[in-house]
Amino acid sequence: MSDKQTKIMILGADAPIVPRVQKYVAEGDMPNLKRLIDAGVFAQNCLVPFPTITPPNWATIATGAWPGTHGVTCFHTHKPGTALDDVAPAFDSSYVKAEFLWEAAARAGKRSIVLNYPTSWPPRGGDLLTQVAGPGLAPNEWREHPRRVSAWDTAADLCAAQLFAEEEYPRSSVVEPAKPGAWAAAPDGAIAEYELKLTFPSALHIMEPVTWWGLVCATAQGPRLSVYPSKESTSPICTLAIGEWSPKVLWQFMSEDGPRRGVFKFKLLELEADGSGLKLFLTPICALDGYHHPAGVSEELAGLDPMPLSTFGVDELLLEWVDDATFVDLLWEAHNWLAAAADALMAGRPWDLFVMHVHAPDWMYHGWSTRLDPQTEPDPRVRARFEILERELHRAWDALLGKVLAHADDDTLVAVVSDHGAKATGRHVPIGKILQNAGLLVVEQTPEGGRVVWEKTRAIAQRSCYIYINREGRDPAGIVSDEDYEATRDAVLDALHAYRDPDLGTNPFSMICRREDARPLGIYGECAGDIVFAVRGEFDSQHGNHLPSTTWGIGDLHALLVLYGPGFLRGSVMQRTAWITDLVPTLCYLAEFPMPHEAEGAILWQSLQSPDEKIDELRKLRRNYRRLKQAHDSSTALTHSYHDLAAEALESADNRAEAPASPEVS
Ligand SMILES: [Zn+2]
Repeated sequence: MSDKQTKIMILGADAPIVPRVQKYVAEGDMPNLKRLIDAGVFAQNCLVPFPTITPPNWATIATGAWPGTHGVTCFHTHKPGTALDDVAPAFDSSYVKAEFLWEAAARAGKRSIVLNYPTSWPPRGGDLLTQVAGPGLAPNEWREHPRRVSAWDTAADLCAAQLFAEEEYPRSSVVEPAKPGAWAAAPDGAIAEYELKLTFPSALHIMEPVTWWGLVCATAQGPRLSVYPSKESTSPICTLAIGEWSPKVLWQFMSEDGPRRGVFKFKLLELEADGSGLKLFLTPICALDGYHHPAGVSEELAGLDPMPLSTFGVDELLLEWVDDATFVDLLWEAHNWLAAAADALMAGRPWDLFVMHVHAPDWMYHGWSTRLDPQTEPDPRVRARFEILERELHRAWDALLGKVLAHADDDTLVAVVSDHGAKATGRHVPIGKILQNAGLLVVEQTPEGGRVVWEKTRAIAQRSCYIYINREGRDPAGIVSDEDYEATRDAVLDALHAYRDPDLGTNPFSMICRREDARPLGIYGECAGDIVFAVRGEFDSQHGNHLPSTTWGIGDLHALLVLYGPGFLRGSVMQRTAWITDLVPTLCYLAEFPMPHEAEGAILWQSLQSPDEKIDELRKLRRNYRRLKQAHDSSTALTHSYHDLAAEALESADNRAEAPASPEVS
């Protein structure tokens, strides 16, 4: 029994594939995670709630509650009573109707640091909480924002990356070389100039236009590109050789809401000796303010060397804006910023709970899990290329773990946990077509595309795994009466059961059920659809509408769960089924934190060195108390023999005060 205060560290990673993690651990790429596994508990069969998707499952990890209880039931949320195609990203913390672990911790006066945790913004946890990021999946990424035009629209603060290139790439800014014009002080050897208009793609705030200028000079070592803020300027923002990154640049931009400071880097990817053929990459311009609680925390992090990137380059690689080496640089930059931020936050303030999330595996597997799996990518050279990038990601993630774990002492419980796994893309299941063919959904073609004819539509698919009945009295354009509700649900069930994939001849569904039958998976309440379905691993995308036990090819949707620290078994593989709902109750039990009000998971007794330790402790305390009381009583009996009249007078006064108020109650 010790009076030391136990601390908790929860280190989340989004969508790692457990067997791939084990492979990289075994091959020596993840020494820090290996140390935790070797000296802790590895949960062999950890499951997550359904659907296997990001916002609900991070909300579950932080609350210990099932999605039906905390109310976040998919990547998007649908407010009952609004149009059935009206959904919004489920990232705002107000959607989570359950207490976060850091709110429970604050009830006991414990201090928390929360870093880049989905569903946690705006911050909840009062003065004892320090929070950085959370409106999206990476710092400066915003999912719910005032200028959102579609459900999947994301914003970046200050903006996303930009490519200036003479050759055309998707979404790039095409630039043309020109003879150097009227420069105030063009250096010797200037051979070409480029107008570089910043377009501020996906900007969270409307930004005032900015035009910079590139000037190419011929040198004995090859062409050099200098970027100037104007042709009048004599000092360039940076000067680059081919293949070179600029230093990090801090710059003030103007937005509709006033000045905003941001950091960025350029990389010169291509340039011909004659000054033509420019390919210049500009990283996201990363805001230094606006995602900190309390706001002053931004000053503590503003000087960090890495940049808080809103992305780490998966899209940019797939668009062929950047090469593999540049992608790897961005990957490390993103992880290094998280590590530096964690280090600065934990070094700078007392804390009892540290919680963070890193998103890289999810974006990477969405980008190319299909190129990694022999089932979907026959060319071994392609697989080898993407495996190099996958390995690099695991190294960067492990290095981040190492830097964070430097703050864990002998009294810190550590959990490494994920929200789901991932797999390669399978065959598409056309839910809309199935409903249309059954006459349940009616769509008419318009010049703008398909339009749902609500007055004839009885059922429609929504989000990853739900079908809604267009119900009178509940839905704005409802046509199905209460009397027809069950028959309509049966018609949907029949249509899904009858469907066969045209090429495979198999039914793609691993589960089809009514809403009330989905409770065993944690789905219930008004935020769930009327029908819930899941598809088999060989169908649909990387995760989401697949059961948490799904495996397919190299893919696996089980969660990663590693538990380490005082009280946990050492070097143990836990075979029992664990759920990520169990994490918070287990940690709260061991560290003696208050349990979040809505937590529903169980304590993972099989992960503990002494499952009965707390009961033994309680027995020991009771025994010691009894002995102390006996000793006290006997010593008091001795002193009474002195007939201390003053003490006896006080005692009799106390007895009168404690007498029952009404004599009949006895
Ligand atoms: Zn996720």
